[in-house]
Amino acid sequence: MSTQYPEQISNPAIESSLRQWREHGGLHRLEGTKCSECNEVYYPRRSVCPKCHSLNMSVFRFSGKGTLLNFFTNNIPMIAVFGFREHSPRFMSTVKLDEGPVILGEVIELSNPELLKPGVRLKTTIRKQSRSANTSWKYGYKFVLDK
Ligand SMILES: [Zn+2]
Repeated sequence: MSTQYPEQISNPAIESSLRQWREHGGLHRLEGTKCSECNEVYYPRRSVCPKCHSLNMSVFRFSGKGTLLNFFTNNIPMIAVFGFREHSPRFMSTVKLDEGPVILGEVIELSNPELLKPGVRLKTTIRKQSRSANTSWKYGYKFVLDK
């Protein structure tokens, strides 16, 4: 964390612009892969189907809609240290997408935290997540209530 950029700065040793480029389809458009042999879908992308071992995989774009399975409220003071003070508390969730895979994400823009219960419908939206090592913003999906 720097005083100039109070948000979390990614570690350049594990975060590269090449990696961001490779993964931006998954983070921005929620793209995974679909097996052409058994039709199973995966997120994040896979090059080999774990179910039938086929290499015949293609890019699959998820609808971005799903159902909340579970969540926890993150009130840990460390999130303020990492620059997310204005977002406290944060609601980290597991969401079962309509197409099948279960993914992790943060639920944002809750008018009332009591609305967050397992079974509620959610949809993805693109938001700022953190700053990259070169100080540019890194974007990715988060969840909002699907009304
Ligand atoms: Zn398969």
